[in-house]
Amino acid sequence: MSTTTVTQLEPCPFCGGTQGSVHHQVFSHRVICKTCNACGPRCRTQEQALLQWEHQSRELRLEKTIENRLLLEHLSNFGDLPPPVFPAQRENSLPFRRLNS
Ligand SMILES: [Zn+2]
Repeated sequence: MSTTTVTQLEPCPFCGGTQGSVHHQVFSHRVICKTCNACGPRCRTQEQALLQWEHQSRELRLEKTIENRLLLEHLSNFGDLPPPVFPAQRENSLPFRRLNS
């Protein structure tokens, strides 16, 4: 197995790193992030491996952006509610109690 270092990658969807390497095996090539070791899919050619990495990176980052936007919208629905009220804690429900008190 040999590797080719790539310094201008599409940012890794997991850590944002832009440095990686293409790992060459007998019938496949795949991009691996240098920072977190995330792997791209195995492909027939190095060019395909790089293209797949770029595609996957964009898709996953877009997905995260959508998820974050939906989460923020969801949380903003709770903005007007009063803070939660917890029931008064009973003495015998405490995990530790002082002896002789
Ligand atoms: Zn990474």
